[in-house]
Amino acid sequence: MILQQIKDDDHKYIMNTYGRFNAALVKGKGAKAWDESGKEYIDFTSGIGVNCLGYSDDGWVKAVTEQAARLQHISNLYYSPLQTELAKKLCEITGFSKVFFANSGAEANECAIKLARKYSFEKYGKDRTEIVTLENSFHGRTVTTLSATGQDVFHNYFFPFTEGFSFAKANDMESVKAKVNNNTCAVMIELIQGEGGVNPLEKGFVNELADYCSENDILLIIDEVQTGVGRTGSFYCYEQFGIKPDIISSAKGIGGGLPMGACLCSEKLRDVMSPSTHGTTYGGNPIACAGALEVLKRVSDKKFLEDVAEKGSYIKEKLLKIKGVSEVRGMGMMIGVVLEKDNAKEVAVKCVEKGLLVLTAKNLIRFLPPLNITKEEIDKGLEIFADVV
Ligand SMILES: *Cc1c(COP(=O)(O)O)cnc(C)c1O
Repeated sequence: MILQQIKDDDHKYIMNTYGRFNAALVKGKGAKAWDESGKEYIDFTSGIGVNCLGYSDDGWVKAVTEQAARLQHISNLYYSPLQTELAKKLCEITGFSKVFFANSGAEANECAIKLARKYSFEKYGKDRTEIVTLENSFHGRTVTTLSATGQDVFHNYFFPFTEGFSFAKANDMESVKAKVNNNTCAVMIELIQGEGGVNPLEKGFVNELADYCSENDILLIIDEVQTGVGRTGSFYCYEQFGIKPDIISSAKGIGGGLPMGACLCSEKLRDVMSPSTHGTTYGGNPIACAGALEVLKRVSDKKFLEDVAEKGSYIKEKLLKIKGVSEVRGMGMMIGVVLEKDNAKEVAVKCVEKGLLVLTAKNLIRFLPPLNITKEEIDKGLEIFADVV
């Protein structure tokens, strides 16, 4: 099929919720993708931080296809050895106590929110329900996670929204304290705001916040949906801040390309959920778990994570030498590029035209390359980028 026909049918049959780039991708290998006409692209996106091992990685494909041939789905009313193995490995890697598997980032956050509210309900009664998040955050597209998202543009059309969320200023402890009251049960943050424009939080603020939460039995929820699974050079980003959250949510990279979300909790929350208080039909699906086990095995390796950090620094250094780049933000291979001309959308469109897949976030260019991208591929991609800028 030619691109124009694909576009016509897309516009005719698919709800118009995405501003798509002008390319239809049909094939990929590692950090390279091809469109329907056979044109090659270097990939600096991993989907949106999903394909952490790149497109159709051999080990991942083997794990997933073998599992598809063996057993594709069972009800969560039966024991699932792969789900158990994945939960055990996640807990061993992170030191968290228990896991709930979902299918997306928004769902992982829904679980985190329910967990925080139930913990507080049982300990303090029904009024302690409020959750403070940060201005400019992004936590998902369900009605509740939209409420949790600290951006006014998302609080439209779909009234009534879930109550109980308020928004504090990032890196401002006084602002957080001003939003906290006797009914606050949790604070939920991204350590690097992804959709909000690749804004890393200050270490001092995060540490002070963690201490404050722990002193007041306010649960600290870290949304690691974009920052997790090796993206920033540690398995989870919070490790680099020296804190121990009560709850984290994970998704995007965790399944290596299959839908999976996970909510991990610490020891004091291990028994909060009980049968029928939460659940999902697909969550922890055996094929997704088989893919995730391959991801975990590879990405949790110390050398692999060091390479992510090293390649991230390499990209940053090279970016800063490109004329027209005014600032580079982020950690590991979660990178935001501010352009002098403030024309990120235009540059992104042009990059795709020239064979480089990139993302934007607010008014900057965002790179989330596959974690196993090679230096040669990085060089080739940055060459295209420099050319366009
Ligand atoms: C992408 C993202 C989400 C939402 O994940 P979905 O899988 O699209 O539901 C939530 N939080 C953060 C930080 C994200 O980057």
